[in-house]
Amino acid sequence: MDLTSLDRIRAAHDRTELALGPRSAPLAGGTWLFSEPQPGLEELVDLTTLGWPSVEQTADGLTLAATCTIRSLADLPPVPGWRSQHLVQQCARSLVASEKIWDWATVGGNICVALPAGALTTLAVALDATALVWTPDGGERREPVASLVTGVRTTSVGPGEVLRSVELSAEVLAQPVAFRRIALTRHGRSGAIVVGRRDDAGGLVVTLTAGVTHPHRLAFPTLPTPDELAAAVDAVEDWYDDPHGSPDWRRAMTLRLAEQVREELA
Ligand SMILES: Cc1cc2nc3c(=O)[nH]c(=O)nc-3n(C[C@H](O)[C@H](O)[C@H](O)COP(=O)(O)OP(=O)(O)OC[C@H]3O[C@@H](n4cnc5c(N)ncnc54)[C@H](O)[C@@H]3O)c2cc1C
Repeated sequence: MDLTSLDRIRAAHDRTELALGPRSAPLAGGTWLFSEPQPGLEELVDLTTLGWPSVEQTADGLTLAATCTIRSLADLPPVPGWRSQHLVQQCARSLVASEKIWDWATVGGNICVALPAGALTTLAVALDATALVWTPDGGERREPVASLVTGVRTTSVGPGEVLRSVELSAEVLAQPVAFRRIALTRHGRSGAIVVGRRDDAGGLVVTLTAGVTHPHRLAFPTLPTPDELAAAVDAVEDWYDDPHGSPDWRRAMTLRLAEQVREELA
């Protein structure tokens, strides 16, 4: 839709051009920004003109640029050592959108818009990703994506800050994962998503999204019993409530999916 409050869209070509005023916002794929009115905004600063490489592989793992599109990630050829690469497709397909949106929507945009059903948020939290955030004073800070998304449409990304990239460690990429998702209707928005991951020490890390207002990361030093896992899921209190599912249903489905994930990875 037309954003009638906007005065300008400015293309950033290097970091000095990333200065954001109080009524400015970063523009990534624009698929959410242009999907509803943005009355508080006068300026968008385009990040896609910065030319960040979408995916970089290092000895430590993978770095996904915030501007990496879902398409680039989904089309990535098999990456040596990335045992859970199938999770990209599973998360991307959990977006309620035609594949057309994959061409534009970005990793950073999906995380920063902070919807409970954030598909790339799920991927990042399930893989213990670290967010690299550029601060307005020219510095940078790192934070787990699990804590960066703090609630429905809220993040810890402060005024003037820009998510630069998401870092995935080689160790975690090599671990097995299991994914489960449910929606009220076949093509409906995700009602609950659970991803499990076995770590190298034999523990289990369970990520809950979509059914909750912000991602939850439940870590167990060894494989939990069904009761231990259910108790941890049941301790969650922020079950999300919207037309895509009631809190009771989301809780019940998350319990069921979590047990399926536990069994698959046992
Ligand atoms: C048809 C349709 C279906 C959708 N279905 C889903 C769904 O099932 N699940 C879901 O989670 N979302 C869904 N969305 C919303 C979705 O989150 C976004 O469309 C997409 O992921 C946003 O990515 P983008 O790159 O287009 O972000 P943009 O629209 O460009 O930006 C989104 C927000 O993030 C900010 N931002 C972007 N990049 C950065 C950065 N690097 N640093 C700091 N701030 C930044 C922007 O200022 C803006 O506030 C849907 C949208 C559409 C149009």
